[in-house]
Amino acid sequence: MAEKTVKTQAAVLRSYKYGESDLILTLFGLSTGKVSAIAKGARKTKNRMRGTLQLFSIGNFLLYKGKSLYTVTQCETEEPFVILRQDLSKFAYASYCAEIIGELLREEEPNVPAFRLLSIVLSLIASGQEEFAARLFDMRMLKISGFLPEMCRCVKCGGHLPERPVFSCAEGGAVCCGGKGVQLGKDTLAVMNNLSKMDMQKTHRLRPSAKNLKEMEQVTRAYWETILEKSLKSVEFIERMRQFA
Ligand SMILES: [Zn+2]
Repeated sequence: MAEKTVKTQAAVLRSYKYGESDLILTLFGLSTGKVSAIAKGARKTKNRMRGTLQLFSIGNFLLYKGKSLYTVTQCETEEPFVILRQDLSKFAYASYCAEIIGELLREEEPNVPAFRLLSIVLSLIASGQEEFAARLFDMRMLKISGFLPEMCRCVKCGGHLPERPVFSCAEGGAVCCGGKGVQLGKDTLAVMNNLSKMDMQKTHRLRPSAKNLKEMEQVTRAYWETILEKSLKSVEFIERMRQFA
């Protein structure tokens, strides 16, 4: 890979300690897509980059593209999202979004809609709307990545859906004519459908019930695990957090 310097707005998706004082980060850059970067000396107390390199913070980065890894040469914070690291519940939901983006998107493929979505959803989580934000993220991210399920009619036969159809992850949508999956209400499918296409500024008008949120969570969790072919660590974390809440 050619060596060069790139400037990008980016969110910190993952962060690992490396060596004495370095950090290895997974950054999701607006113009770079997902990249791995080393931040040398980032854990030294006097390092001015420390704040911007915190998990889930969004900043402006100057990255030097080396042979196998990017190096963070400069950065400044734009949105620190401090609360996402201080509050366990907010941390868990922010981890969920970061994990899905980390698993779903390929290295060095910029995805502007996904970046904008992440930024909006992290703000919603910070403001205390964790569950709603996670479901908005699910539906928008499924759409962006081309996995939006069929929610209005049977994905197998095209027939009308009963009041409580089954959502088949294997078929990619609701079914009326048999199939394994999670049962959910048609009203929940309507909320999912609205979340996937409604003007982002108006989504706050939706008022999903606790039952809608619960059903959406079960369906999207199973669907992501089918798409990604693995279970999500953050989902396990959210489960454990609830047990101790
Ligand atoms: Zn059918």
